[in-house]
Amino acid sequence: MAVTHTGPDQHLGSITDSLAERLGHRLAPDQIITDLTRLRTYECDAITGYRVVPSLVALPESTDEVAAVVAACADAGVPFVARGAGTGLSGGALPVADGVVISLARMRRVLGIDLPNQRMTVEPGVTNADVSRAVAAHDLYYAPDPSSQTVCTIGGNIAENSGGAHCLKYGFTTNHVYAMTLVLPDASVVTVGGAGLDTVGPDLRGAVIGSEGTLAIATSITVRLLRKPETVRTLVADFDTAEAAGEAVSGIIAAGIIPAAVEMLDALAIEACEAAVHAGYSLDTAAALVVELDGPEAECDEGFSRVKEICTSAGTTNIRVAADAGERMLIWQGRKAAFAAMGRISPDYFVQDGVIPRTRLGEALAEMQVMADEAGLRVANVFHAGDGNLHPLVLYNAAVDGESERGEKLSTAIAELCVAMGGSITGEHGVGTDKACSMPKMFAEDDLAVMKRLRSAFDPAGICNPGKVFPTPRLCGERPGPYRVHPLEAAGLIERM
Ligand SMILES: Cc1cc2nc3c(=O)[nH]c(=O)nc-3n(C[C@H](O)[C@H](O)[C@H](O)COP(=O)(O)OP(=O)(O)OC[C@H]3O[C@@H](n4cnc5c(N)ncnc54)[C@H](O)[C@@H]3O)c2cc1C
Repeated sequence: MAVTHTGPDQHLGSITDSLAERLGHRLAPDQIITDLTRLRTYECDAITGYRVVPSLVALPESTDEVAAVVAACADAGVPFVARGAGTGLSGGALPVADGVVISLARMRRVLGIDLPNQRMTVEPGVTNADVSRAVAAHDLYYAPDPSSQTVCTIGGNIAENSGGAHCLKYGFTTNHVYAMTLVLPDASVVTVGGAGLDTVGPDLRGAVIGSEGTLAIATSITVRLLRKPETVRTLVADFDTAEAAGEAVSGIIAAGIIPAAVEMLDALAIEACEAAVHAGYSLDTAAALVVELDGPEAECDEGFSRVKEICTSAGTTNIRVAADAGERMLIWQGRKAAFAAMGRISPDYFVQDGVIPRTRLGEALAEMQVMADEAGLRVANVFHAGDGNLHPLVLYNAAVDGESERGEKLSTAIAELCVAMGGSITGEHGVGTDKACSMPKMFAEDDLAVMKRLRSAFDPAGICNPGKVFPTPRLCGERPGPYRVHPLEAAGLIERM
């Protein structure tokens, strides 16, 4: 069966009509979308292989309006899916057929900045980068920095517990959120968390962060701001083999140094990034490490010298030290553009997000190369090496017969390799639709049952982003991946909506 690619079901049209009518009493006409052409804008996230056209999109502008939309859905028994910027890489914001998408894109206000306590409260549609921008003049910033930070929203970040290059030292989103206002699936409004990161009682804040929009919709989020470090030092070290670069990563961490970031790019990733950004990465190297240290000047200088020594003993062929803030920005621009840049070297790609123990980096990369050679495909690697969080990009051309199937198989095999090496199927992109079927590879029935009970406690009716995270027979019976023509469609017997 081809990938999910559905349109609104006609027999549910009357439910949608009555929902639209009810919402019409609470929202302005331009806050409700029912027109098929405009609905298509919301049919997928950054995993474009999965597409489902929702029945209705609501664009609320306040907590009360979100609660009104959720109440209407709850009364009608219609599923809903929260959506931020739609940059998710696991199909988390994929609409449910015949369901409603609640887009938080219009909730972009900064609600309060508490400078003495280094806290800021924002609506969920504020972008990650805009949080830091709002307090930059006060030498403060928000630490988690997904590469998509100029576009992705804080709401999406809390749902995915997003990471980024600098989360090695500073921790993921969950370490930077104090409190949230939530609209629960029964439309009640609650606040979880408090003034500190550790509050009395069960950590409901922690339960919601990383729950991929399946427990509630966050409508305001209070985040922690950090003071900008006194000094930042960045270098790029080239290596003849990815294994040698992997050894350098293990050596740096084993030496007790905690860099702000350690990122790795292999030759293919460098080729793509250079074509897109011209950040000055060496084109004739097998792998490059970007290592950044920050903190007090003396500590930084000492750690930086040690990092250079470790890279040298691991066999680096060249070390480039960023001379100033401009050069550092350029190096990061190259790294952060990596996914988008893949279009320069391949028409299509699958991205995985597996985690492995970082001491096994070299081994994992070598094994992946063998698997790629066997599949006759190329795999580009650009990833958070310090966390052992791989982002293998399996390159393929959907126009070539059989390549997407081979790519998909290789991609899944790489995720399974990560689990077999003692790691995880996802480090930061979430399970969503894409990896739901792989959950049993990591968790026993009992584990999944406990997770489902937590979910039911928040959402007994199962209307809040259903079909995500947990494997279902329907999903597992289907083959994930980009759109493929169904044999009946090829025969002219059915049409794609
Ligand atoms: C080029 C590129 C680079 C990326 N780099 C990184 C990276 O370095 N690190 C990383 O972690 N991720 C990365 N991502 C993935 C993605 O950007 C993150 O997962 C991000 O947090 C998604 O935010 P969004 O606003 O786009 O959310 P969406 O994609 O719209 O939604 C993601 C999930 O959040 C839920 N959701 C959205 N808003 C809310 C809300 N207010 N309340 C409850 N649930 C909500 C949705 O239902 C969905 O399940 C990258 C993506 C791209 C395209």
